[in-house]
Amino acid sequence: MADRTDPGPGRGTRLDRWHSSYADRAHGMRSSEIRALFAVASRPEVVSLAGGMPYIAGLPMGTIAEATERLLRERGAQALQYGSGQGEPELRDLIIEVMDLEGVEAHPDDVVVTTGSQQALDIVTRIFINPGDVIVAEAPSYVGALGVFRSYQAHVVHAPMDSGGLIPESLDETLGALRRTGRPVKFLYTVPNFHNPAGVTLAADRRGRIVEIAARHGVLILEDNPYGLLGFDGDTQPSLQGLNPEGVVYLGSFSKTFAPGYRVGWAVAPHAVRERLVLATESSILCPSMMAQLSVTTYLNTCDWRGQIKVYRELYRERRDAALSALAEFIPEASWTVPEGGFYTWVTLPDGLDAKAMLPRAITARVAYVPGTAFYADGQGSGHLRLSYCYPPPERIREGVRRLAGVVSGERELVEIFGTGSTGPIPGIQSPAPNQR
Ligand code: PMP
Repeated sequence: MADRTDPGPGRGTRLDRWHSSYADRAHGMRSSEIRALFAVASRPEVVSLAGGMPYIAGLPMGTIAEATERLLRERGAQALQYGSGQGEPELRDLIIEVMDLEGVEAHPDDVVVTTGSQQALDIVTRIFINPGDVIVAEAPSYVGALGVFRSYQAHVVHAPMDSGGLIPESLDETLGALRRTGRPVKFLYTVPNFHNPAGVTLAADRRGRIVEIAARHGVLILEDNPYGLLGFDGDTQPSLQGLNPEGVVYLGSFSKTFAPGYRVGWAVAPHAVRERLVLATESSILCPSMMAQLSVTTYLNTCDWRGQIKVYRELYRERRDAALSALAEFIPEASWTVPEGGFYTWVTLPDGLDAKAMLPRAITARVAYVPGTAFYADGQGSGHLRLSYCYPPPERIREGVRRLAGVVSGERELVEIFGTGSTGPIPGIQSPAPNQR
């Protein structure tokens, strides 16, 4: 008999007639905390330090519009047609040029174009994971990856990080302990550069050791690298893929260096894995959008994309500075990571504060963030929150942190008086919301 009191994910209080028909994997699906937040965070009066939305207004829209018009006039029949499951050869050639900046060793044949790197996460997980299989992932980890892993019923074990990213000795211990329990680890999921949500970067002298440890334990690495070209000093770190091409599946994306609306990302994989990724793409979407692929191809061929990446670096550096100086001014009792690129800083609240419980008060104070618990598979992270500085302009970031400071000090008073901070529902959280990111 179906449990008719369980409304199912994202269904509010409505009964779900088909609840008992769902596959087990659908029962594990949850609306992410970020997705739920979007409805309230996107109100104009709220300063959203929650979502990781790139600052698209920085793009040369007029040039892109002209290029799109030319594309449709000159190659419309191709752009509006089906394409190959692996992706357009012309775009795969250009992806090799982009990856060259980060030392990724690949041939265009090794590249599979995907609908954002999110779809790449999905197909990689689909081809490797049976229910109950173990994935080792950083603590904390990208919420969208955890959602994919959960939907395939993986068992996620977290490996600790510090300000230099994954800690090699701890990873070695974690993999060794798992091996002794007889549970094979299918892959290690890592975001080595400008981490989402932790804001840290894997230290150069750890990269070789991480690759060696994974290889020694026979564990594939899934290297997710959407932010690697957004380092504030312009430097790029050597990719893990470049250190061991046969032991790494590498994911890239145009979402942060160009625009997420095209939904174009890619995977680079050892030959046999690549074959299966193409089959998995074909069975789910036949082929990635030709219009999107040729639009990105046109952009790369006709616009100064390297120059645009420099513009983005400057823009996000200024916003990072605004976020960190506001934290130092308004919430000195907290601590935070110092990102050298990317979109996020990871804030550790003063003792006793719970970021998730505090969120309703923050929304009431018109500031939004993502509570740290969203980034763990096992409920850890309550004393942390992720602040995104990518979208609001510097003065709004400062105002948002000032509002947050008021909430933090109110919570501290509650903790002092009652021994505990806020509890309660998040206002507006049931509303339908655009997709999380
Ligand atoms: N991986 C990471 C670490 C991300 O931060 C994101 C987007 N926030 C993605 C993958 C997915 O990006 P997309 O599908 O837009 O390429």
